[in-house]
Amino acid sequence: LVSQVGQRFYGDLKDSDRVFTNLYGDHDWKIQGAIKRGDWYKTKNIIEKGKKYIIDEIKASGLRGRGGAGFPTGLKWSFMPQNSDKTSYLVINADEGEPGTCKDREIMRHDPQKLIEGCLLAGYAMNCRAAYIYIRGEFKETQKRLEEAIQEAYKEGMIGKNACKTGYDFDIYVHPGAGAYVCGEETALIESLEGKAGKPRIKPPFPPQYGLWGCPTNVNNVETIASCPTILRRGSSWYNSFGRKNNHGTKLFSISGHVNNPCVVEEEMGIPLKDLIEKHAGGVIGGWDNLLAVIPGGSSTPVIPKQICQDVLMDYDSLADAKTSLGTGAVIVMDKSTDIIKAIARLAHFYHHESCGQCIPCREGTAYLNAIMDRLVLGVANKNEIQYLKDIVAAMKGTTVCALAEAAALPIEGLLRHFNDEVMKRIKEIN
Ligand code: NAD
Repeated sequence: LVSQVGQRFYGDLKDSDRVFTNLYGDHDWKIQGAIKRGDWYKTKNIIEKGKKYIIDEIKASGLRGRGGAGFPTGLKWSFMPQNSDKTSYLVINADEGEPGTCKDREIMRHDPQKLIEGCLLAGYAMNCRAAYIYIRGEFKETQKRLEEAIQEAYKEGMIGKNACKTGYDFDIYVHPGAGAYVCGEETALIESLEGKAGKPRIKPPFPPQYGLWGCPTNVNNVETIASCPTILRRGSSWYNSFGRKNNHGTKLFSISGHVNNPCVVEEEMGIPLKDLIEKHAGGVIGGWDNLLAVIPGGSSTPVIPKQICQDVLMDYDSLADAKTSLGTGAVIVMDKSTDIIKAIARLAHFYHHESCGQCIPCREGTAYLNAIMDRLVLGVANKNEIQYLKDIVAAMKGTTVCALAEAAALPIEGLLRHFNDEVMKRIKEIN
């Protein structure tokens, strides 16, 4: 696979080609520091090039939504009506709740002006009156900093009335969530913003047709929007030159678990998983041979065993070929000391706890998965229950309003696909 992606050497992105120039908080996060690093440079000129230009550039850059689903961003923006008689809104999904994922928090803490400038440019392109940043409730300190950064942007005339002296009025509001994972689903988030319980809506209609208060709305992830000013400034062909067809650009990866140096790093899309772990996270504790498995894109993405980790590339297509996905780019590394059944059972507990209960396959399915996985960990499940797990997983896929049920099912599917022997052994040991 590595040889298929051509000549480019992956895994050594130059600092000058990184979007996020203050990911580690080494520099001044305030607006003057951000301006020195290039943020807000000739933003007015970009706006003056027009809405169509901005959307076309984002389309040409190949940017895909960085919240997990990877939907083409420019295309999603183009679904927004330009002549609606209703007010249009931009909503930023900063409810970063996917276990293993902690990249958007780093952007908001250390590079908040990139998100704010991105809101202005995206908001302008889609004719939005305002942006609502729905931030995860637990990010209290981050929220404080983000609000301070927004106030600075108002004071400098970057947003608000006549933003950047363009004649365009644009406001940004921050709204904290209250600890529900499901509120990261875009329509549950909208319900929550409206003051209701966070229960997902049936799609279609998608938010550009019927969003916040029934108005045209575009919901985008923090990393997606914060990448846009740099893409528009340096050009779509610059961003497009990273990665390969359908998998362009750079990406933030959060690497956690059994590595020597857990970190968040921006790398080229398509970097081999092994390079990512060895070059940036200090390698697997005890060395590569001590690796058992990796969850490559956050808890909703199926686990892959070491033999697949060896060759897989961190992009949409390569991970799809490996029957998993890039998700949020949250790499959870597990070494040979891991009880893999227990690790996946922990996720089953999480999804059961977070199901909103609206759809029967999710409400009941997550409860059954959780109960059977608990029995499996203890080795008191019987062999028939493996088939039950498979049947429940099948019944949860594509049968609910949102993706939470499938997210709960996929880790168990991955476990049974790759660690069936361990599962059978655990049953045998006790029965
Ligand atoms: P999705 O594929 O249904 O939608 C992705 C985006 O594309 C949405 O904005 C949706 O409105 C738009 N879209 C999709 N099809 C469309 C169409 N036909 N017309 C118009 N717009 C369309 O996925 P989703 O349910 O929004 O997200 C699932 C992903 O969320 C999972 O991959 C998971 O990794 C991720 N996730 C992330 C976090 C986090 O903390 N970042 C938390 C939980 C889940």
